Amino acid sequence: MTDPWRDPEKYKTGRRVRCVGCGETCRETHWGKWCFDCNVERIDRIDKAFDKLTS
Ligand SMILES: [Zn+2]
Repeated sequence: MTDPWRDPEKYKTGRRVRCVGCGETCRETHWGKWCFDCNVERIDRIDKAFDKLTS
């Protein structure tokens, strides 16, 4: 299974921004101003919350 947000290559092309989560310099992505680590953590959390709501 390859979730697009788990692909580090997707985090290398956007313009330089500061991550909303940790404040580190990163690249803007399809998901917003999130670095790889923060975005994976964030989406995992959303997914788990969503699973709880639907199961
Ligand atoms: Zn971050």
